[in-house]
Amino acid sequence: MTQEFDVIIVGAGPGGSVAATVAAQHGLKTLLLNREAMPRDKACGDAVPEPAFLLLRKLGMTNSFNDYSCEIDFVKLVGPGGQQVKLEVFPQSGEKTRIVTRHTFDNLLCQHAMQSGAEFRILNVTDPLLDGNRVIGISGKEGQTRVNFYSKVVIAADGATSAISRGLNIGRRPDRHVSISMRGYVETKEELDPVIELAFLRNLIPGYGWIFPVNKHYANIGVGLTLEAYKVKQLPLTNYLEAYLKTPHIRKTVGENQIERLKSWQLPICTMEQKRVFNGAILIGDAGGFVNPLTGAGIYPAMTTGRYAAEVAAKAIQKGDLSENALKEFESLWRTELERGMRYSTLALRTLTRFPLSVDLALLLGRLFPSVMRTLLSKV
Ligand SMILES: Cc1cc2nc3c(=O)[nH]c(=O)nc-3n(C[C@H](O)[C@H](O)[C@H](O)COP(=O)(O)OP(=O)(O)OC[C@H]3O[C@@H](n4cnc5c(N)ncnc54)[C@H](O)[C@@H]3O)c2cc1C
Repeated sequence: MTQEFDVIIVGAGPGGSVAATVAAQHGLKTLLLNREAMPRDKACGDAVPEPAFLLLRKLGMTNSFNDYSCEIDFVKLVGPGGQQVKLEVFPQSGEKTRIVTRHTFDNLLCQHAMQSGAEFRILNVTDPLLDGNRVIGISGKEGQTRVNFYSKVVIAADGATSAISRGLNIGRRPDRHVSISMRGYVETKEELDPVIELAFLRNLIPGYGWIFPVNKHYANIGVGLTLEAYKVKQLPLTNYLEAYLKTPHIRKTVGENQIERLKSWQLPICTMEQKRVFNGAILIGDAGGFVNPLTGAGIYPAMTTGRYAAEVAAKAIQKGDLSENALKEFESLWRTELERGMRYSTLALRTLTRFPLSVDLALLLGRLFPSVMRTLLSKV
């Protein structure tokens, strides 16, 4: 079976659905592919930052999200030496950071892409289709049947183990550019405040534990650290999660309730060197390695790179030039918005890896000068 589209987007996570929405809103014949039906679960802390909702509003998504999410008013940071700081979050845009399960969030975004005019299909994509060094579509498997779809541009939004990126010979990501993380859900004994907590536990650095309120009595709880540290320490992620659970304040919040729906996954950390633009293809979100090195946050980077990729694709299609050179504008767009924060985060991660107690020092200063701390946090 063959069919021609302007743009094919592989993967219906937040990156893919935003790309599909923007492409369809530009009047492009858009195909959004995902290997599972939506809604589907995704290992995540479910913390969706304020700019993500601002972008969705710009794309005409009018859901208030109130029915599906928990609004966040504070960030609490805990250092390995016990220093703590709790900072109020002051929204810049009228939107708020929210905890919303990926099951719900990703499905709403995918629905919006379809309402904007994108066609959605379930397909396990296995490879990009190549004509010489130009990507001309994708190939996938529906059961035993091989299916090919052709397009002018392919946007790879198929996550950390991207088949498109593999097919374009990106090569294996070095351990220093990968983090690994595990999340679960837990009923809480105590009522949860609208606070996201990041706890830089002594044995978890460089990494942290988190607890985020999904609602007043249900939390997303997890741990994550760099792959290099994970391999050196040789402990399963469940050990770190148990250690976090044993900290007195978490034990008090959670009580004896058991963590359920444990799931772990890898996070491709952002590097400046990675190739992301090809003749006829762009890699975005986790497929393009856009996760913040320090925080592990990748939802907004996936969405904004999805948007830029679709805008650049629309221009290139209009000009009739689908070359790498024509699509290169994607590089300057994402760098203008994300590069500085990614570089700050890389530096901060290096510092806390070498000097774990620098976190306590920073938190102590944060207690004395909360506005300075807030400014620093806004940069990562
Ligand atoms: C435990 C954990 C906690 C995290 N917590 C946070 C957090 O709180 N906040 C935050 O901002 N970020 C967080 N992240 C990072 C965040 O989850 C990712 O950066 C984000 O999901 C990237 O979005 P994406 O659209 O690029 O890819 P994904 O969300 O991974 O979506 C990729 C989609 O592609 C589909 N797909 C994959 N392969 C194929 C294929 N071959 N064919 C067809 N479809 C395919 C998948 O089914 C999936 O639907 C966390 C990550 C982990 C692992």
